Amino acid sequence: MSYAQRVMDRLSVIKAGEPEFLQAAREVLLTIAPLVDKDPKYEKHGILERMVEPDRSINFRVTWLDDKNQVQVNRAWRVQFNEALGPYKGGMRFHPSVNLSVLKFLGFEQTFKNSLTGLAIGGAKGGSDFDPKGKSDAEVMRFCQTLMTELFKYVGPTMDVPAGDIGVGGREIGFMVGQYKRITSLHDGVLTGKGVVWGGSLARTQATGYGAVYFAQNMMEGVGKTLEGKKCVVSGSGNVAIYAIEKLHQIGAKPITCSDSKGYIYDEAGVDVKILKQVKEVERARLTRYQELRPSAKYVAADSYPKGRNGIWDVPCDVAFPAATQNELNGADAAALLKNGCQCVCECANMPCDEAAMEAFLKAKICYSPGKASNAGGVATSQLEMAQNASMVKWTFDEVDKKLHGIMKDIYTAAAETAKEFGDPTNLVMGANIAGFKKVASAMIDLGAI
Ligand code: NDP
Repeated sequence: MSYAQRVMDRLSVIKAGEPEFLQAAREVLLTIAPLVDKDPKYEKHGILERMVEPDRSINFRVTWLDDKNQVQVNRAWRVQFNEALGPYKGGMRFHPSVNLSVLKFLGFEQTFKNSLTGLAIGGAKGGSDFDPKGKSDAEVMRFCQTLMTELFKYVGPTMDVPAGDIGVGGREIGFMVGQYKRITSLHDGVLTGKGVVWGGSLARTQATGYGAVYFAQNMMEGVGKTLEGKKCVVSGSGNVAIYAIEKLHQIGAKPITCSDSKGYIYDEAGVDVKILKQVKEVERARLTRYQELRPSAKYVAADSYPKGRNGIWDVPCDVAFPAATQNELNGADAAALLKNGCQCVCECANMPCDEAAMEAFLKAKICYSPGKASNAGGVATSQLEMAQNASMVKWTFDEVDKKLHGIMKDIYTAAAETAKEFGDPTNLVMGANIAGFKKVASAMIDLGAI
């Protein structure tokens, strides 16, 4: 039995209660088998056994007072997964579904994603089961301040640099950075995604969505096609989805949907980004509000989706951009997309396609990118924010965007060339996993048995 399979089999037994982490580990371990089984050095150094175990997971309680002075308690974590390539880097997620399994899958993915950027950053992820939805600004602030009162002990600009993710945007980053400064009196850029007037980088807000579209452009060009004029179905309506939609408009594609957990918008004329930003970034409202402001658009409620399906993937399109959350697109959804002629699926969220969907896209040999490659523009630009903080300079929007462009092209090239080298040229999942793995493994070997 192959080395990768043996490690996976053992992991499936000892981590049986962590389904999301097992899913992410299985995808990586089984696709890198052609490399690790060929070269005994990986087993000799125990690389896979070490890689599937985080360096450490920090777990703490966050006790805070709501607006009625009632005591509220949430659980929070920081999973520092792998620091072989550099300081830990990865977002914080605030969502009721957050648990250790989810954060471990995200931290594991982040390790390979950060490696793919070509930058010197290790992998981590953190978050809490706190739900910012429906909370007042003051409640969110008290929660963030209490969380940082514990988290500050474990983070630092050359140690661990958190950022945003689901439920953590500019407001939450601001409250966490404010508390970090209050406790430490340090202005060392410990978090990324900061406001541009207090240390943030221009283009960081846009980076994940823009970067994913640049990646999709590369994939389409790789098969002699273009995104121009293509009908695009985008899911989600948060940071990543909004800026993917904005960039799609800018390059002449046609984004016709967006969604949240309650339903989706179908806007045949193209999603109006100004209205979407007003609804989601300013009013923090649901998508029914978009439909109120844009009566020509159609709203489809999630409770009307067919059983076991995500209705948005029934909308016929040329290109799909899943940009909401993990496992939002299953095998049946993939079959619907393929039946309707979808030619390209660019993952914007982390692990949005479940294993059956991934297999269907690989089998159909359409353009298909794993999130760890196509959504890496966010973390890459976060590292550009770290570089600006460290050297006390500020780059223009265009300078950052140009670097982002280059990084996304390099990631695509690395994944595509590696896929070719290992005999399956359309399999960017394998290409990205092997390319990301090689660098982390080589650093781990150089650093010794730690
Ligand atoms: P946001 O919190 O800004 O937006 C998340 C969006 O996804 C919302 O529209 C939300 O709807 C929807 N969503 C969340 N959970 C569910 C669910 N269970 N079912 C259906 N819809 C859901 O997050 P981001 O845009 O920042 O992140 C989106 C994805 O991109 C995540 O997978 C994240 O890990 C990934 N990512 C983000 C990066 C970044 O820079 N922000 C970088 C790289 C990856 P609702 O409001 O109803 O919950």
